[in-house]
Formats: sequence, structure tokens, C-alpha cells
Amino acid sequence: MKSKFKADKNGYYGQFGGAFIPELLYPNVKELEDNYLKIIESESFQKEYKRLLKDYVGRPTPLYLAPRLSEKYGTQIYLKREDLNHTGAHKVNNTIGQILIAKQLGKKRIIAETGAGQHGVATATVCALMNLECVVFMGEIDIKRQAPNVARMKMLGAKVVPATSGSKTLKDATNEAIRDWIGNPEDTYYLIGSVVGPHPYPDMVARLQAIISEEMKWQLKEHTGKETPDTVIACVGGGSNAAGAFYHFLDDESVELIAVEAAGLGVHSGESAATSQLGDVGVLHGSKTILMQDEYGQVIEPYSISAGLDYPGIGPLHAYLNESNRAKFMNATDQEALDAAYELTKLEGIIPALESAHALAVLEKIDFKKDQVVVVNLSGRGDKDLETYIKHLGK
Ligand SMILES: *Cc1c(COP(=O)(O)O)cnc(C)c1O
Repeated sequence: MKSKFKADKNGYYGQFGGAFIPELLYPNVKELEDNYLKIIESESFQKEYKRLLKDYVGRPTPLYLAPRLSEKYGTQIYLKREDLNHTGAHKVNNTIGQILIAKQLGKKRIIAETGAGQHGVATATVCALMNLECVVFMGEIDIKRQAPNVARMKMLGAKVVPATSGSKTLKDATNEAIRDWIGNPEDTYYLIGSVVGPHPYPDMVARLQAIISEEMKWQLKEHTGKETPDTVIACVGGGSNAAGAFYHFLDDESVELIAVEAAGLGVHSGESAATSQLGDVGVLHGSKTILMQDEYGQVIEPYSISAGLDYPGIGPLHAYLNESNRAKFMNATDQEALDAAYELTKLEGIIPALESAHALAVLEKIDFKKDQVVVVNLSGRGDKDLETYIKHLGK
């Protein structure tokens, strides 16, 4: 049966998606579009992808029934421990997959854009692993804000190129990456870090992150006797960890899907990244989706305490999940996320990434039943956020 939550052949989810790209990029995108499914579905790709996920990344990640958190909220809360992956988050599932695709296409040089540096690090990591040249574009302001990740990328052998135009942040880095790709169509592969960008990226990245819900199914069966949960909760920046956590449950309407955006200082404070609440339809990063924009269609700079959720759009799948009400979109402020992070640390001895803490922060806003099976996707670990956590402790 054809799923309405999987991209159609032109990369659309309802009205969202597609490939809105400059003509000069067409050959690159077409080459990928013509080949990605063949490669992903091939036996040799699957074997190598699964081998690296197991031996290099450390998968499967545990599905952990969190007893004290469950008791606090009067329900059954499981944490999908993406924080235990090599490099500390779910992002590596995608970069491992795409680096294998790039190699299969005969590419010699990898480019990527990064905001907080997490995707840059995950890309530089797999480039070191595969001995491929790596160039990461990063806004000049972000380079200053995210010095530890810049150091990691450099140690991993990547060249970090500052984007000095516009607001000198993620969207400018994206523009630079696209410009580079246009100039180097033959040997270069553009490795995008979330379920965003022109078709086929959103569908490709969702398939590579789908390992998260694939594992959940057999792990839930072991824990509860049933493959499906009642509720899955995940944070949304671009939407890749949520897409992976939702993927195998999209067509099963008995599974409640909850996507959590960053509300920053408050949804209507002017300092927020709650795209589904504040955005409307437009084209961002080559895809028709929902984005935060002003009356002239200029992107509004988003804000969140968590760098990974600080993105002015959501991927087209999520725009559709929101419009069709298949997923419920909620949000959490900076302070709510901080409180949820301190709570998880105290109750379970797990320091979550600030992004993941947004997913945890909605637990107190939901009325759960006692026997409800709730999975929270713990997208990453909090080491990178320690400075922020210490600074706000006891405030
Ligand atoms: C990058 C990141 C996110 C946000 O990206 P998505 O594509 O929405 O998943 C969430 N959590 C962590 C830990 C991240 O590093």
C-alpha cells in the first residue's frame, strides 16, 4: 500500500517538498535522485551500513524503561538512547549512510554546512573514516560560538570555511555550500544533515534515520510483547531524529506522534524557533515547506538556547505531518528544557542534550494513562551543553 507519509516520486508530501533549485544544480540533484533508492536498497549497501552502525557507531542503541521518570509522570516511559551513539547523537546514522552513497557515486570530496557544528563533526568523522576530503561551511558567528566543535572538525581533518555574508549563521553557510556544489559538480557530494533540502534529501535522510524506529519495534516487543508504542515524542529542529523515530509508525494511526519545537523565550516573544506556530508556506533550502519569514519572504533568524533546534524551518515531511494533524506539534521554552534536563539527570543519571531536553519537557504537559507505553527519543548527550547547564543551574 502506498503511504501518504512517504515522499511521492517527485519528493512531495502533500503540498510540501519538491526540488526548488538553481538550474546549475540540476545535474547533481538528478544524479542523486536517480541512484539513491537503488543504492540504499542494494544488499551490499545494507550490509556495509548495518556493519558500520553496529561496529563503529555502537548500535543498536538501548531502549531503556526509565523507572523514576515513569513514576513521576504516572506512565511507562522508555528512552531511545541515541545519546549513546559514537559522536553523541543520532546525526551519525545519516552521515554513515550518505558517505557510503557518495562513495558508491564515485565522489572524492564531501561538503557540508553546519550551524552548531554537530552535523559538521558527524560529517568530518565519517570522512576521516573513509579517507575523503571534507569541507564544512559554517557561519562566522557560529564559528566563534561553537569553538569546541570547530576544534573537533579540524582535528578530524576537515577544512572549516567561514561564511561571511548575511547574518553569518546557518543559512549563509548553506548558501556557501550550494555555491561550492554548483562550482564542483563532478567530484563533490553535498552531505545534508537533516530531513531538509531539495528532493531526494528529505526522503533519503528519513530512510537513513529510520533505523531508530526499526530497532524500537523489536525492542518494544521484547519489553512489552507488542511492536508498537502508544506515543512517540521527539524534538524537531529540521526533523531528522523525529523522522527516524516516527518512520515505521507513520501509517499506524493508533500510534500518537508528538513533535516538540523550541519556543525559546516564549512562542510569541520574538525570540523563538517554533516554526509550526510562527511560520507559513515558502521555499527554504530548495524545498517547499513551512518557515519563519517576514512579509517580504526574508527568513527570520530563529532563536533557541539549543543550537540544534535553532533552525528557521522544518522539513517537508513535518510540514505535512503538522498540516494533516498526523503529528501533534508542541513546544518547550528554554527554561522548560533546562528544567527537564536537570530532572532527567537527577532521576535517571542521564545528562541529555539540550535539544532532547525539549522532548522531555512536554511530559508534564500531557495527561498519561498508567499503562501507556511512551517512547521519548533521546537524540543526543549533554556533554556539549555542560557550560550552559552549569551557567543556569540554580537560577
Ligand atoms: C542536530 C540535533 C537535533 C536537531 O536536528 P533534527 O534534524 O531535528 O533531529 C536534535 N538533537 C540533537 C542532539 C542534535 O544534535
